[in-house]
Amino acid sequence: MDCLFCKMAAGEIPVNKVYEDDTVLAFHDIDPQAPVHFLVIPKTHIGSPAEINAENSAVAAHIFEVIAQIAQEMNLENGYRVVTNCGKDGGQSVPHLHFHVLAKRSLAWPPG
Ligand code: IMP
Repeated sequence: MDCLFCKMAAGEIPVNKVYEDDTVLAFHDIDPQAPVHFLVIPKTHIGSPAEINAENSAVAAHIFEVIAQIAQEMNLENGYRVVTNCGKDGGQSVPHLHFHVLAKRSLAWPPG
């Protein structure tokens, strides 16, 4: 499958890595929208949040554990935002599930 984030997960395209284990990879976003902006992805291909189901949801739960761990290591004690965009209207541009983590500035609500 010709998927950018699958290639990153497989080590075929280099990333600015934040964290890696057997099932997930976290790396800095190439176009950061905050002083801290990294992405956390499952290594297996899940196309979007709409494809999370009983068979693959364990990795989504694990991603949230990893985010909490990274946030502690990065001293994000003032808070952060976790965002996952889904589909065209949700603003998803890469069709591989990913969670944005944004921090180190005050973030407006609601998003545009
Ligand atoms: P989406 O718009 O929610 O799908 O987010 C995709 C994100 O991937 C965007 O924030 C992009 O800046 C980021 N992105 C795209 N290509 C790369 C890359 O090669 N390295 C790191 N981040 C990337």
